Order: sequence, then structure tokens, then C-alpha cells
Amino acid sequence: MDRSTPYSISILNRLKNSIVVITVIILMLLIAATVYQISKDKQDELHYASKSMQSMASILSKETDMMLGLASTILNDVVLDVNLGQPASFDNTKLLHEALIKKRRSILASSTSSSFQHLFILNSDGISVANSVSFPVKKVNASDREYYKDHLNNAHTGVRISQPSRSKVTDERVIYLTKRLETLDGAFAGVIGIQLKLAHFDYLYNELQLPPGGAVTVIRKDGLGVYRYPLDDSFFNQNVMNSQDFTKIFSLRRGHAVLVSPIDHQLRIVGFNASDFYPVINLISVTESSVLDRWQGKAINMLILAFFAGVILLLASVFTSRQLKHLSIALFDSSHDGLTSLYNRRSFDQRLKEEWRRAIRKQRTISLLFIDIDHFKNYNDFYGHRRGDGCLQRVANYLHEGGLREGELVARYGGEEFVVLLPDTEAAEAAEHADRLIRGIQNLDIFHPDSPVADIVTVSIGYASLIPSADRTETELVEAADEAVYKAKDQGRNRAVQGEVKPRELKGAEPVPHG
Ligand code: GH3
Ligand code: MG
Ligand code: MG
Repeated sequence: MDRSTPYSISILNRLKNSIVVITVIILMLLIAATVYQISKDKQDELHYASKSMQSMASILSKETDMMLGLASTILNDVVLDVNLGQPASFDNTKLLHEALIKKRRSILASSTSSSFQHLFILNSDGISVANSVSFPVKKVNASDREYYKDHLNNAHTGVRISQPSRSKVTDERVIYLTKRLETLDGAFAGVIGIQLKLAHFDYLYNELQLPPGGAVTVIRKDGLGVYRYPLDDSFFNQNVMNSQDFTKIFSLRRGHAVLVSPIDHQLRIVGFNASDFYPVINLISVTESSVLDRWQGKAINMLILAFFAGVILLLASVFTSRQLKHLSIALFDSSHDGLTSLYNRRSFDQRLKEEWRRAIRKQRTISLLFIDIDHFKNYNDFYGHRRGDGCLQRVANYLHEGGLREGELVARYGGEEFVVLLPDTEAAEAAEHADRLIRGIQNLDIFHPDSPVADIVTVSIGYASLIPSADRTETELVEAADEAVYKAKDQGRNRAVQGEVKPRELKGAEPVPHG
């Protein structure tokens, strides 16, 4: 379709190319936007999980502080009530038992602290002196207990939290909240303690409805575990102080982090908050995979959507391109001759009108060559119509490629007749052009044994030139060139003859009567 592509077809082709470029750009943008959104969603999910873990850790920390504060108050109350630690304060075990019972009852009466179990008192040797279970107390030596040793060796008088163990009475998992008892001069006098059911935390953290893999951990400052939800016995035997991540967490005190849990070795998003009052740190975490599972679901949906959007866009673009291709073929067909692919008569007429108007505006000479193959009927008769067609195509090819300048046009006028429109061309130039074409067609050397002119195909050309004016029509130019063809034929063919555009008749001009 490259034979003198009309402007409208080149617009269609450009449109088609633009559609391809735009489609590629939109597809790339779609891919970029999807990738960006998916990775942003991932960051958002992780960020949101981190932030919510951090704020939950802070709430849990407050809860732990409240519980430890309450334990501290309970234990301090008893110490004050019975002057525990002062000389002879351990002597009246009945009095101690009653004080503990009284406290235990008041605890039971308060629903908030119902997780607290029995109270007990040990003397400086670690022997049980009294408890809130029975009187007289069953003498038990607890001097091997970790909390006893700790209080014996450390002057710290705050509440100490033990690691969990099983209650010898109820077999429930309990921790001991204990305090060091001192004499007035600060010497170690024994231990007072209270049991706390771990079930208390279970109840609390169940309410959080953590996603699968979610965990809550309470760890002492020395790195030993106090509590873990969901329960994992191996946790209590590990000291997380060996983990670099935990050392960092302990030093940061509050915040969030992503780390491999030393307990279950999963990558976890952890919120942590150290108590300001007690030597414990609360951690709450979810596995990164559980957070990313949700993101993955969203990402897959987004990919599917983007994929379909891309496919629809691609299909629409392919469909539109095809329609445009059909349109440009139809446009080409309507403006070109089917046999020679030159412009057809319709296109010629249209272009002639345009060039005519332009020549009027610019007052430039416009020239027209009318070309007719000599004795073509004989050629057909000799070789048959099909070879006649081939001959027409060769001549047309030559005319098209025979040095047309910008703005010039060659068209098949009909049958074995062609026209060449030469805007801005004086008669002399048109004559040269016509001679060149005659020689060129001779040089094609198409054998024509039945031509009386020569034994090769020749043409006769009529040409006409003029500067058009508003009172003339372009048909006059065509007629002049056409008439000149007849003259050329009459003069023996295989030549170019200039036609004359008839002088304009002055309409309504009456001869002036003489005399
Ligand atoms: P002259 O030199 O006077 O022009 O003689 P001529 O034979 O060329 O002129 P004439 O008008 O008698 O014949 C024109 C011939 O062109 C008649 C027709 O068969 C042939 N012709 C017209 N269109 C086609 C075409 O599309 N294909 C073929 N093969 N022949 C065509
Ligand atoms: Mg003819
Ligand atoms: Mg002819």
C-alpha cells in the first residue's frame, strides 16, 4: 500500500501506531502500578502489624503491672499487719495463719484478683512458717527454691516473679510472686509469697483472638520466661538473653521488631514493652507468614484484576488496530486503481480541484499530461487481455517511479490512459517531462509486434499548461490535454503535442456596431 499513500491513510497508519504505543505504555503503567501497589500493600501490612503489636504490648504491659502491683499491695498489707520480719514476728504461727486467711478471703471477695491463690510465709531458713491453706502448717523446706535463694542473696524488696511450676496442692500451673522479708536493720528474715494461676493469663490472652501463630510472652529481665501463650513447656527452660535480638529488645525497652523467635524459630513481628516498675518485659507477636498470607490473598486478587484489565486492553487494542487496518485498506481501495495501484480517476479529480484552487491563489502555472498507449487494442488482440494487463502494470510502474516530484501525481484515467498532474510547472518543463516519459516507455522495451508505430510499446502524450483563474474550470485543462492526445495520434503517435486551452469567451459581450 505504499503507492502514493493518501494523507487520510497515513493518518490512519499513524493512529494505528499510536494505539500500539499507547497500549504498550498503558500496559507498562498497569504492570508498574500493580507491582507498586502490591509491594506497598506488603509494606503496609507489615507496618500495620508492627504498630498494632507494639500498642498491644503496651496494653499487656499495663495489665501485667496492675497484676504485679496488686500482688505487691497484698503482700505489703500482710507484712504491715503482723509486723512481719521483726523480732518474734514468726513465733505466733496461728496469728500469721489467720492474717493470711483474712487476706485470702478479701482477695476472693474481689473478682479482679481471683487468680491469686494461696499466701505463704517462709522463715530465714526457708522453712514454711504459715500459709493460708491449713493450720498447723505442714513444715516444708523451700530453701532449694530459686526464689528463696534469690531473696536470700539480693536485698531487693520489690515483688519477684518466679518461673512457672505446678502447684503441689491443685496441680495447676502457677507462678510465685514473692517478697523478701527483712529485719529493721535490713537483714534477711524470710519470704512472703502468693501463688498466681497461669490460667489467669490464658483467659486474658484468649480474648485477644490472635491469628494462628500469634504468641504472647512475658520474660523476666534475667531472660527467663514467666509465661507463654500458647503454652510451650520448652520455653521455660530457655534463657533468651543468649539471643542478640532479645538483648537489643531489653535495651530498647519498647517498640517493635522483626526477628527469628529463639523459641519456635519462626520469623515473627514482635511488639515489646518493658515494665517501668517491675523487672519484666511483655512481648506479643504474630508470624510474618500469617501477616503475609493475608497480603498474598489481596495480591493475587490484584494480579488477577490487573491481568484481566491488561488482556481486555490488549484485545481492545488488537481489535481497534484491525479495524483501522480494514479501514485503511478500504480507503486505499476507494482511492486507487485495482490493477495498477495508481491513484484512480476519482482521486485525480479531487487532487486536480485542490491543485487548481491552489494555483489560482498563488497564480502559478499548472500542467497536465494525458498519456495514451498507442495501438493497445492490437496488443490485447495479439497477446490476450491478461498480458495486456501486465503491460498496463509495467507502464504504470514506470510512470509512478519515473521521477515524480513532491506534489506531483500520476493516476490511471481509465483503460490504457494515464494522467500526470504537475503543479507549479511551466509548459516548457511539462514538454520536457512528456519527452522523458516517452523515452522512458520506449526504454521499457515491451515487445509490441502488432504496432504500426514501432515493434515496442509507445505512448502518445497531450499536455496543456495554464495559470488558472476563477472564471475557468479545471475541465478545460483536461480537455485541452485530451485533445492534444488526438493531435499526437494524428501526427503519427509516439510523440508529445501541446494542447491549447481555448481563450475565454467573454459572456454577454455584444459586438459594438460601427457607424
Ligand atoms: P490508439 O493508438 O488510437 O490509442 O489505439 P488503441 O488501440 O490504444 O485505442 P482504442 O481506444 O481503440 O483501444 C483501447 C484498448 O485498451 C481497448 C481495450 O481492450 C484496452 N483496454 C482498456 N482497458 C484495459 C484493461 O484494463 N486491460 C486490458 N488488457 N486492456 C484494456
Ligand atoms: Mg485510449
Ligand atoms: Mg490507445
